[in-house]
Amino acid sequence: MTTIMDGKALSEKIYEKIKSDVEKLDRKPTLAVILTKDNEAGAVYVRNKQRACEKTGINSMTIEFEPNVTENEMLSKIDELNNAPEVDAILVQLPVPNHLDTEKILNRISPDKDADGFHYVNAGKMFTGQMPASIACTPKGIIRLLDEYKIKLEGLNALVIGRSNIVGKPIAQLLLQRNATVTMAHSKTKNLSEYTKMADLIVVAIGKPKFLNGDMVKDGVVIIDVGISRVDGKLSGDVDFDSVAPKASFITPVPKGVGPMTVAMLIQNTLELSK
Ligand code: NAD
Repeated sequence: MTTIMDGKALSEKIYEKIKSDVEKLDRKPTLAVILTKDNEAGAVYVRNKQRACEKTGINSMTIEFEPNVTENEMLSKIDELNNAPEVDAILVQLPVPNHLDTEKILNRISPDKDADGFHYVNAGKMFTGQMPASIACTPKGIIRLLDEYKIKLEGLNALVIGRSNIVGKPIAQLLLQRNATVTMAHSKTKNLSEYTKMADLIVVAIGKPKFLNGDMVKDGVVIIDVGISRVDGKLSGDVDFDSVAPKASFITPVPKGVGPMTVAMLIQNTLELSK
């Protein structure tokens, strides 16, 4: 039997808990979001994040820049937000325009206000098991979802496909901390099917619609589909759901799987940073 892991329902449950936690605070936490006006996909995500703030009683402020914003202008704004006592958490919606240095911008955010957990100090703490207040939201949300469905990770053969700093590398690390045996695959991996067929758990984060199909996986596999692509106006994950789901014990859908969990963990990070 296949269980479809409902990230949307779990995110709503998390919002209820955050809302009641926020009500007990003396002041509402504030999340500041920086966005450039040419980032259309980013603007959709920012609206989802604002809605999640509204649901939980968290203040959100959005700072919009023109696409030709200079690096210094953006860095100065980050400095200003770092020094603003009323701001608890800051995020820069990626991607930023090509003429800006993404790493430089993300690392300018104070690690104490790093809503996305992308700052190298927070990433480094997580990699050395020190668990900072903010951990990258997508990997954090995946672990929360696996826990909700009581999937025991210890000793599992876990395969992570994709090695980005925001998903692949940190989820591999979190799975390792839970005593899974972790293999990482990427665009240069040879004979990928040999790895996918051995895996008890597969996290796919590559951005290639329906890439992983039923012939590549074994019966009973747990599938976490991180991919989000738009195909003919519809959202598609990296997993060919129709051929993989019948073989899987647990699988996340796209939409309503990992996506809502990512936003919920951002709100959770904001609350934790405010404490
Ligand atoms: P990325 O786009 O930075 O990099 C893609 C990764 O996939 C690289 O590491 C590359 O080596 C690997 N890859 C590419 N082709 C491959 C192949 N044929 N075989 C094996 N590996 C291959 O990665 P990202 O930023 O983690 O994004 C990946 C996908 O996840 C995108 O669709 C993105 O939109 C989505 N995403 C979703 C969420 C969410 O909340 N659901 C969050 C972040 C990213």
